Amino acid sequence: MKNSVFMEEMDAFTYREKLAKDAVVFIPVGALEQHGSHMAMCVDAALTKAMAGATAEALTADTDGALEGIVCSAINFGYRSQQRSGGGFHLSGTTSLSGTTIISLARDICYSLIEDGARKIVFMNGHYENYQFIFEGAELALEKASAEGIKNVKIQLLSYWDFVDDATIQELYPDGFTGWDLEHAGVMETSLMLLFYPDLVDMDRIDPALYTGLPAELPNYDVLPIVADYTPPSGCLSHPGASTREKGIILRDVAVANMVIAIEDEFSGAGDFHED
Ligand SMILES: [Zn+2]
Repeated sequence: MKNSVFMEEMDAFTYREKLAKDAVVFIPVGALEQHGSHMAMCVDAALTKAMAGATAEALTADTDGALEGIVCSAINFGYRSQQRSGGGFHLSGTTSLSGTTIISLARDICYSLIEDGARKIVFMNGHYENYQFIFEGAELALEKASAEGIKNVKIQLLSYWDFVDDATIQELYPDGFTGWDLEHAGVMETSLMLLFYPDLVDMDRIDPALYTGLPAELPNYDVLPIVADYTPPSGCLSHPGASTREKGIILRDVAVANMVIAIEDEFSGAGDFHED
């Protein structure tokens, strides 16, 4: 069997050995969501799993194995896509969960890992809308663990794009950056897909007649029922045309390096913070 950071590809005995050494367990949380005509619908789940894998490997390498990383199976569905950050849950190709379902999934998976012996857990979010529901699930898992007398659990929550620093943003978006909410199917996700899953991207499918009205100009409020016309016809919120595999490498490397710092800050030793 090959060496892998992914739980799905690991035997249970190896998994238990790693947990006995206090490994950090990542839970990637994505979505099954339309991403225009140029990318497959798996983007949020597939990228988060890939980024968690890269971060787990980098963490193990950076700490010389003192902090190993394990990646749990991803939650492949996400909270209702919002019109202002994912095009909207009304669009065909977007299969959404209710808030209560994702809270329960996050809580149950997290608590099951705690029962296995996991004490260092990182929720890595890859679908903008998920965040608060994962937070709630994590807190409920922690409360349950505490009620069972398990007090030494720590859970970190993050969205991987928040670890792309300003200098990189300026380099990759010379014409201005519209914000991570409008990055849905834009340069970041498309560049990372070109890096990790090139077979699931087709830049020739960026039809100028369809990819109009980008970046999207949306009201600064939500309205229900959804007004479908507010979403650009492609379902993307910014234009992916400038995406390249090389940008994907830069985005991955910067985000992974910064996530490793944040994870080491929280999980290696008590109160050990990087000053730089
Ligand atoms: Zn996405």
